[in-house]
Amino acid sequence: MKKISLPVYRSQPDRFEKLKTLGEESRYDVCLSSCAGGRAPDPRDPAHRWIYPAALPGGGIVPILKVLLSNACRNNCFYCPNRSANDRPRSSFQPEELASSFMALYRARRVHGLFLSSGIYDQPDRVMDDMVKTADILRRKYQYKNYLHLKILPGASPGAVGEVCRLASRVSLNLEAPNPERLAEIAPDKNFSEDLLKRMNWAAFLIKDGARARTQTTQFIVGASGESDREILTTTDDLYRSLHLHRAYFSAFQPLPHTPMENLPPASLVREHRLYQADWLLRFYHFRLDELSFQPGGNLSTEMDPKLAWARKHPEIFPIEVNRAEYEELIRIPGVGIRSAERIIQARRAQGFSDPDDLRKLRISLKRAAPYILVNGKTVKFQPSLFVEPEGVL
Ligand code: SF4
Repeated sequence: MKKISLPVYRSQPDRFEKLKTLGEESRYDVCLSSCAGGRAPDPRDPAHRWIYPAALPGGGIVPILKVLLSNACRNNCFYCPNRSANDRPRSSFQPEELASSFMALYRARRVHGLFLSSGIYDQPDRVMDDMVKTADILRRKYQYKNYLHLKILPGASPGAVGEVCRLASRVSLNLEAPNPERLAEIAPDKNFSEDLLKRMNWAAFLIKDGARARTQTTQFIVGASGESDREILTTTDDLYRSLHLHRAYFSAFQPLPHTPMENLPPASLVREHRLYQADWLLRFYHFRLDELSFQPGGNLSTEMDPKLAWARKHPEIFPIEVNRAEYEELIRIPGVGIRSAERIIQARRAQGFSDPDDLRKLRISLKRAAPYILVNGKTVKFQPSLFVEPEGVL
């Protein structure tokens, strides 16, 4: 990504300062894993602290400006430094000011999209009205047609949700916790069913009905409310099936200074990673939630990925003969992903596999797959490498 050209703002230092403040504060609302490949912005570059690579709904990755309309908030979420009880400088954009600031970056080709969220400095609809005005200025006055991600605020009215879905490319509303009891532990001002889930339902209906917004996402803070992975994945699975949620993001809790949770331990990044792996199994590998293995406390194992854990629990299914296995069987083999399964099926149409090396040529990880496959009726002997291979997604 190119470095931001600060001269874009040389004539408007106040505006640059505001963008810097409200862009940096948006990181508290950030799920870094939503950035392509988990790449975080470069913290050494001040401007890049608020520009993120993001995956677009239709595919492709572009740098986007992620910014708050305001960091003032009347709520008191325990994990958030922008909570009202925190005595800190507050800053806000006017809609035209933010729209023109974004357009300056966009025209300078520094960003290709905008992700706009906000603290709730007034009634939710009053704040959403300012967000909608910003989006409307971009769409109508500046004829901006590219990626625009708008956050739906908790408690927004059906009309406000409708306006956001009319203008945005993607919308999101962060649940943060998997159920009402857990949310009450960390965000006492928000009602899980009324303020959040009901709004997500409205957005899902509008998206299905052909709104401009094509997808809806949400985020959970992992490890903030004492919740288990089972609780998070149960809610996630339910959202995929009932609301056709595009995807859920999982963000390991990090205690932030000047919050009531600042002395709590951070959540493990391995735990976050395992949740993403389990989520992939649900979304792309046709796993059912009840096929995932949870430990007695309800968490996934941090020691092994959930697909390997499933394979070890089902010795009756393995080894699988790669020359005859159906696609659905192939994607259950540890080390064989979606692309690998497709490559296997395509390659064997021309000629069956007679040797494990045939699979190596297809870039199949024999280190992981060997105990679970047969090649032409023979088990595969695998000589571990002296070099440690990084663990793949699946
Ligand atoms: S609603 Fe909660 S998380 Fe959002 S800005 Fe306000 S205090 Fe922070």
